[in-house]
Amino acid sequence: MRLKTRFLSIAAGLIIVAACASWLAYRELSADLIERWGRQVAEIQVRYDSARLLQSLEREIGLAKQMADSTALANWAANPSNETLETDAIREMESFRANFRDNSYFVALRESGRYYYNNERNEFSGKQFRYILDSEKPADAWFYQLIEEGRDFHLNVNPDTELGVTKLWIDVLMRNSAKEIVGMVGTGLNLDTFLQDIVDINQEGITTLFVDYGGAIQLYRDRNYIDFASVIKPEGQKNTVDLLFDAPEDKQKILGMLQLLKKSSGKGGHVESGFVTIDGREHLAGVAFLPAIGWFEITLLDLNTLLPKSYLWPLVAVFISSLMITLIVFHLIIQSRIVKPIVGLEEAVEKVRSGSFILPRLDKPDNEIGRLADHFEKMTESLRDSTRELENKVTQRTDELNRLARVDPLTSLKNRRGLDEALDEEVQRAERQDTGFGLIWLDIDHFKSINDQFGHQAGDEILCRVALWLKASLRPYDHPGRWGGDEFVTLLSPCDPATLELIATRIRDSVEQESRKTGTPVTVSVGGYFSKPGDSTDTILRNADKALYRAKNEGRNRVCIKAPENTEINHA
Ligand code: GH3
Ligand code: MG
Repeated sequence: MRLKTRFLSIAAGLIIVAACASWLAYRELSADLIERWGRQVAEIQVRYDSARLLQSLEREIGLAKQMADSTALANWAANPSNETLETDAIREMESFRANFRDNSYFVALRESGRYYYNNERNEFSGKQFRYILDSEKPADAWFYQLIEEGRDFHLNVNPDTELGVTKLWIDVLMRNSAKEIVGMVGTGLNLDTFLQDIVDINQEGITTLFVDYGGAIQLYRDRNYIDFASVIKPEGQKNTVDLLFDAPEDKQKILGMLQLLKKSSGKGGHVESGFVTIDGREHLAGVAFLPAIGWFEITLLDLNTLLPKSYLWPLVAVFISSLMITLIVFHLIIQSRIVKPIVGLEEAVEKVRSGSFILPRLDKPDNEIGRLADHFEKMTESLRDSTRELENKVTQRTDELNRLARVDPLTSLKNRRGLDEALDEEVQRAERQDTGFGLIWLDIDHFKSINDQFGHQAGDEILCRVALWLKASLRPYDHPGRWGGDEFVTLLSPCDPATLELIATRIRDSVEQESRKTGTPVTVSVGGYFSKPGDSTDTILRNADKALYRAKNEGRNRVCIKAPENTEINHA
């Protein structure tokens, strides 16, 4: 895989992994955050709602308890048929009515069942005795039930069919000095106003309700759920709090919380919380026990309304986009500082490998790769220089070898190969220019005996000297060469027959005279031939050889020229 592709796939992989991890982290964190926040809010809300309820009720309960303990009422209850005592008691009742928030009260005597009531309109002034309670009537069952339960204080939501009102009743038992129950007093709070003040708070996403000790709904904004007259209903027929929840596990959960709070009710102020679903929406339920009234307060927080997860989306968007930007920047840096320089370097290496030393411009970032590229450039320059030097040397050596291949090592004249090439060129040139040229072939006389007499070394020296004398007798542009052994061939160009003869004679004379000076006299026989245009090398050589042969035959140390018109010139 190419480096660029690899880095791209690594970057893409990292983006995917990071995005998944971020998403999971976001989900975990947001759920955790919302839960912590929700529990705290639920706790605060529960305490706040409880305080509001108790604030509203405490004064009324206190007054009702005072009323139940009032001496005037106690005296009358002990002697209910005494009209004076009854008048005193009613006066006392009316003074409490003035103080109750609802400006209403009720007093019921156990033995006679007589029920007294007056309201804020003072509707029943002078006729506070309303009716006699009947233990057989279901509407009056609450009275007998509460007496049977013997709880000194009780809150009861109940419609009073006789009076035509639904109220939150505060019921307090009256006891005589022997602690026997002699009646019941209390006041009521208009349920609608109370619900509006306490439960129908206008906070979107927050629902408050109150349930009694057994879980029956007492105060709730939807009156259809309120379990009126719970006190007289058998278990199983009550509107209990679990009715609000769809899932069986949520019903269990909420009832479990009530149980837990009942167990720890002594501690007070404790709040239980848990997630539940209502109408398909997730809520956080906070539950607290209110020991003062024996009820539970339940606050339901609709988390999606209070803190929609979409609130956190901008945060997620910022996080993911900064992550993407980081990765893209990382990718671009890797690309420009590593991948691109390496790809450029790879191309350069490929070029050098294929023999080209002209490099493209290399990226040289300020890092190891940049330094590598720099070293590579310098290395390529050195390689180019040394290759050029090597090539020059090879050329020089080849030229030298070529030269040597055409030079006789002993005399430094052309050797036979050199002579052959020069002869070919001359033949072609002569033909081209339609001229002739001269060829001289000379052979040292009795050279074998010189060798025999003075040794091979001395023979070599004589060969060198003859070469020098030969050269000295020629023009600078003539081509002298050693044909082999003691034979020398010379090309004379340009030339004419007279010049040929002249130079051939000069050579012979020079050798004779110069050798004499050395103390080892030698002579040469010279054959010459003046070629015609169109003569082949063979013809030329053969004719010169023949002339030499004749020179030898005729006594040596002479010149024999074979002229073109076949006239031969001989010189002793
Ligand atoms: P002629 O007058 O007929 O030419 O008699 P010659 O003795 O010179 O006979 P020829 O030319 O046939 O003999 C040439 C001799 O040259 C034979 C050989 O021993 C000798 N020779 C050939 N090459 C060399 C060489 O490189 N160095 C030396 N010292 N002698 C050589
Ligand atoms: Mg010879």
